[in-house]
Amino acid sequence: MPSTDIIGDWEKRTGVLATMHNKESVISPILKEGLGITITVPHDFNTDRFGTFTRDIKRAGNQLEAARKKAQAAMMLTGMDLGFSSEGSFGNHPTIPFVQSNLEIVVLIDIKNDLEIVGHFRNSNSQVRSQIVHTPEEAVDVACSWGFPKQGVILRQSETSSRHIYKEITTEDDLRTMSEKLLLKWSTKSVFIETDMRAHRCPKRMDGIKQATLDLIKNCKSICPKCTTPGFVITDVVKGLPCNGCGLATDLVKETVRCCKKCSYQETQPIENKNSAEPGECQWCNP
Ligand SMILES: [Zn+2]
Ligand SMILES: [Zn+2]
Repeated sequence: MPSTDIIGDWEKRTGVLATMHNKESVISPILKEGLGITITVPHDFNTDRFGTFTRDIKRAGNQLEAARKKAQAAMMLTGMDLGFSSEGSFGNHPTIPFVQSNLEIVVLIDIKNDLEIVGHFRNSNSQVRSQIVHTPEEAVDVACSWGFPKQGVILRQSETSSRHIYKEITTEDDLRTMSEKLLLKWSTKSVFIETDMRAHRCPKRMDGIKQATLDLIKNCKSICPKCTTPGFVITDVVKGLPCNGCGLATDLVKETVRCCKKCSYQETQPIENKNSAEPGECQWCNP
């Protein structure tokens, strides 16, 4: 099926989004607007079995594999052949030292056309925070400094305990009451409080998911020049942008490589708006 047909075909189809954390509120309108795809959400779909941020259930495979499994499970459950899911991860930024980051991906799987296309967004201001507190007031102060109640918090006995995790706290009063109860109950006389990173309790993640969905739309509209399949995206980069001081190759990216997963056609392009590196960015001039 030529690409124009695939994109035209999407406009007539309904896709299923694997979510139980209200991600449809940001993903669905963008898919409708950008690709004309109508989204449904399965009832009683438990995505927690694919892994949780509270570390009580380990994630199934890497980020992309986990996203794939969720989309496939939702398609299986509903009998649909167009599925979407999103998956977030947190960790050290891959290129900026000592900076935490949050990578959100949104995946489209089209079984009918045998296609998988992924959108990405990396946020370097990750919202992951945690602290040990000893009084209910301290719990409330810390939570509010993190943006509570919009940004959710979780209470547990310690960083590593996976029993007794309290997630559904929505008001300052609830937080105060619950902390008080746990401080009396637990022999440590302390509570481990951390940010709730589930999408519906983390506005920053919701925004990252929105940006990743927009990236997915852009990637879907990027067409292979040879076979016209959607999803002609950057799969690799070539480093070695020359320095305009010494002329040597730097570690900066000079070209991007786009590749079609269908026909394997590749295209290398120089990066936009930059044909040389500054001596300040050069590891030879500025070691
Ligand atoms: Zn192609
Ligand atoms: Zn140089």
